Amino acid sequence: MEDIRISEIETQCILTKSNLPASDYCANPYVGCTHACKYCYASFMRRFTGHREDWGRFLDVKFWSPLENVEKYRGRTVFLSSVTDPYNPQEAVFKRTRTLLEELSGSGIRLSISTKSDLIVRDLDLIRNFPQAQVAWSVNTLDESFRADMDSAVPVERRLGAMKIFHDSGVRTTCFISPIFPGITDVKAIIRTVKDQCNLIWLENLNLRGAFKSVILSYIREKRPELTPLYERIYNRKDMSWWEELDRELAAYTSSLGLEYRINDNSFTRPFSAPPVVVNFFYHERIRKNASSKASVIQDNAQDIVPAEIQSE
Ligand code: SF4
Repeated sequence: MEDIRISEIETQCILTKSNLPASDYCANPYVGCTHACKYCYASFMRRFTGHREDWGRFLDVKFWSPLENVEKYRGRTVFLSSVTDPYNPQEAVFKRTRTLLEELSGSGIRLSISTKSDLIVRDLDLIRNFPQAQVAWSVNTLDESFRADMDSAVPVERRLGAMKIFHDSGVRTTCFISPIFPGITDVKAIIRTVKDQCNLIWLENLNLRGAFKSVILSYIREKRPELTPLYERIYNRKDMSWWEELDRELAAYTSSLGLEYRINDNSFTRPFSAPPVVVNFFYHERIRKNASSKASVIQDNAQDIVPAEIQSE
């Protein structure tokens, strides 16, 4: 992408305390995200940055003083990243995520990374040495044309290839099927595709709110008009029955595959070689009460994240 405004900024504190469940600290080596997903839950960050460019068209690259006494974080979980992708394409040049991993190496932190990229394979040598490291890839379609309509990240095949490399190397992997687009995302096909190369499969519904609601509904009207009544029912009339039906279908389907299906997640105690657990995060009110996952609640905690990050910099 040619027309991305890239700036370099200094930050006092690259690790910020996290309000997200199951993560003690977050690190966002960049401000902005050039994957530019149309449904990005983090795009609210733009208004805190002073940027006039659209979300996905700017990237602030963070520089910080080298971390010291990293042993004090031993046993804590650090999540990369809550409001950017730590492996956006510019990371290949700036290496800020790799720098952070190098600084944290040997600290004993528990590392959790979420990405839509295969650039992370470059850092496998570092990541595999963190205790209980886990990496999640977002995959919400196997249809490359729909993928390209929704984001500028790498093709799904490359994400799946990276997931397999990590899993084959003994790093715990998660396939984050999110957001599920009603009538478009073939959840069963994705589960079939990834079940032998991941330890967890998370399911999250498309939750339309804020500025991107109209973007997505316009896309559906233009590209998938036959789905307009369904989206109208779900997103304007708040009818949850479609999700309830999908929930029942997936419970039966995963059972037929011999996979455990549950709402809450404590599967980290399972052996690495066990089949993946499929975790349903469709219902956000339940997530707030029960979930031990962080990524699924990013959007609900968004307003909490921003003040913490802004205050620390
Ligand atoms: S990869 Fe994540 S942070 Fe980046 S644009 Fe997409 S949804 Fe937003």
